[in-house]
Amino acid sequence: MPPDDIDWEAELADDPDWQALSPEERQRLLSVMERMLSMGMAGIYGDEAPDEPDADVPCQSVMGQCRARCCTFIFALTREEVADGRIAWNRDKPFFIARDPHDGYCPHLDRDTFRCTVWEHRPLRCRRYDCRSDPDVWPEGFPQKA
Ligand code: SF4
Ligand code: SF4
Repeated sequence: MPPDDIDWEAELADDPDWQALSPEERQRLLSVMERMLSMGMAGIYGDEAPDEPDADVPCQSVMGQCRARCCTFIFALTREEVADGRIAWNRDKPFFIARDPHDGYCPHLDRDTFRCTVWEHRPLRCRRYDCRSDPDVWPEGFPQKA
């Protein structure tokens, strides 16, 4: 469940994109978010087990095949990630991670190398996701030998 007592203006005080918006645009976004949250169509992830380890996927060895498929997935950011201000989120669907409307990739992905440009600060969902058992990414199974 999303926390319902968030002072978004305070949470987003360090978010340059948020600060660049007019008061009217901010209010519109907050209204959209509240409506979508109430409809179960938007989300913000709360606390997740801090001791859960990050996934240890050998991405570089299979990047030529997956082409960073996971960086097209849509997911909600955590409250901390939104407040941190480093991860771009979807202005039409707060507070899901942003996606480039042209190619569907995350704006933080280097399109030439398929490397994450915010690796040290990437969202929790990116850190914990393990594609190896996901048939949407690997319908034939994760490659045994890259
Ligand atoms: S997690 Fe999987 S899909 Fe994502 S970049 Fe790594 S190997 Fe590719
Ligand atoms: S933040 Fe990095 S790892 Fe996460 S979706 Fe974007 S490019 Fe991929």
